Amino acid sequence: MITPASIQAVEVSQPRQRPRPYEPLLTLDGVVKHFPAGRGKTVHSVDGVSLEVGKGEVLGLVGESGCGKSTLARTILQAVTADSGHITFDGQKISGIKGRELKALRRSMQFVFQDPYGAFDPKMRLGASLHSPLRHHGMKDQAERTARIAEMLARVGLEDDILDRYARECSGGQLQRLVIARALLLKPKFLICDEPTSALDASIRAQILNLLVELKDQLDLTLVLISHDLRVVRYLCDRVAVMYLGQIVEEAPREELFTNPRHPYTRVLLAASLAEEQQGTDTIITRLKGEPPSPIDPPSGCRFHPRCPLAQDICRTTVPPVAWPGDDHYATCHFSDQ
Ligand code: SF4
Repeated sequence: MITPASIQAVEVSQPRQRPRPYEPLLTLDGVVKHFPAGRGKTVHSVDGVSLEVGKGEVLGLVGESGCGKSTLARTILQAVTADSGHITFDGQKISGIKGRELKALRRSMQFVFQDPYGAFDPKMRLGASLHSPLRHHGMKDQAERTARIAEMLARVGLEDDILDRYARECSGGQLQRLVIARALLLKPKFLICDEPTSALDASIRAQILNLLVELKDQLDLTLVLISHDLRVVRYLCDRVAVMYLGQIVEEAPREELFTNPRHPYTRVLLAASLAEEQQGTDTIITRLKGEPPSPIDPPSGCRFHPRCPLAQDICRTTVPPVAWPGDDHYATCHFSDQ
């Protein structure tokens, strides 16, 4: 249990085991998503990402701001369409699906927003905001909708009277619980949580993280947790993928990654996280020398080479081999075995 007194309790107090052997629920194979940047230039937001998320697993996706984590999440959810590559969910190819197929997918895949304060229409009572997605997905009977909403409110620890309020009348913690309740209304199998606690106070953050752990186990959910807070990732996740400039540079089971990181970028992230924790700061914002290069013009060879303390000549000219995630632990570095 994470204690409100100290978010630092998100250490390894409750080790989580990756369910093995696992059956993939979500598979990404070489997914690319670029955006035009004007004057013939291109933003390389997601560049050849291959990943698997097993049923019942929690995958942590970490990296600096702007590395492509949120675009990758939107691509998985089909909020944007991948330019190339394949995404398979529960045995079905979902890249580029539309219409009824997409609507059906929305029931199974939901998103928990980073900012609970902006997640609800300020002019609508919260009850109307919760009835709306159920009605949209065909639950016509009001009594049935009311019962489903009551069930989810109970699961997230809220009283029914909150439904009569507007968002501005609630605290951040109440709103984030409501965001989670709304995401669960359609009984999804899969949630993507994008920095779900970053807008909240430390004490509320602990409550929400504990709630996610409870719900994941109670409802047999599969989660992708996007976070820059490595303490949260170490507490909650079974496996971790590290993203840099549109690519996954390392992936491993949680404890393996934290105790035996192979990519220099991961090592720097972990060292920065540890240093900030020892200094007693509350925010884990990792800092490397220099700013990340622009995704409009990624560096040649290994994209990390301009900031890598171990870079050699080969790193500037040759892209490190990319492994398929069937490998239990891989790092896209020419020297990851050393
Ligand atoms: Fe650093 Fe070279 Fe490895 Fe890239 S390939 S992470 S530049 S050592």
